[in-house]
Amino acid sequence: MASVRTLATCIGIGGNLSVLGDLFGFFRGVLPPDPTGAEVKVSLRRQLGLLQGEHFHVNVIAVGVNNFVDADDIEVDYSIFKMRNIYNQVGVGVGRIQHHAISVAQADGLDAPTNRDQLEELTENWSVNNNGIDLFVVHDMNIPSGTGILLGRSAVDGPCPDDKDDKGMSGSTTGLWGSEQTARTTSHELGHYLTLQHRNNQQNNLLCQSGQANSTRNSIQLTNGQGNDVKGHCMSRDNC
Ligand SMILES: [Zn+2]
Repeated sequence: MASVRTLATCIGIGGNLSVLGDLFGFFRGVLPPDPTGAEVKVSLRRQLGLLQGEHFHVNVIAVGVNNFVDADDIEVDYSIFKMRNIYNQVGVGVGRIQHHAISVAQADGLDAPTNRDQLEELTENWSVNNNGIDLFVVHDMNIPSGTGILLGRSAVDGPCPDDKDDKGMSGSTTGLWGSEQTARTTSHELGHYLTLQHRNNQQNNLLCQSGQANSTRNSIQLTNGQGNDVKGHCMSRDNC
């Protein structure tokens, strides 16, 4: 097995390395609590193995960062933790996590969007110039959808690294809905970016819409076919 240092350098992480902060990308630098109180564990061995196979990188962009409190950061970190477990089911790794921020002033209202078009505007206005998927965590999303509210929105089959400045939806977005729902929405929206379509007839699947899924916590399955589709997207790479 390759060394931690070699693989970290390979995915673009250098300097003094912290395992939970840099290698696993937890914003708070520690493991997040599980909302049920279950023990949270990560495996360095598993992560290093996944980095040597297909994996994708994520830029987490806090929109309205001035309003983020520790509980919000915990939701972000739990979403990162769960994302790794979800994509591990199909042998896909989540590599480098970078954290970026847009202030309330910079967001100019897009930290509190009330319609879907504003989410597209957000992904058009900002992108991180690297080979990761841009994931916008919007502090005060309040967008009506049917009889409820929209939990997130994403580009479907989103752009490759060089095309993130193209017009239209060019990233994934989620609101903050409590750790379990934010985690499911985050991984669901990233699934869309990585080509996946809804599977509302499979109520345990990650791509079943939340209103129809069996469980916010457990409807996170992916099929091998979905795994292969993810691996075929240009944001998924097997060399770092
Ligand atoms: Zn969806």
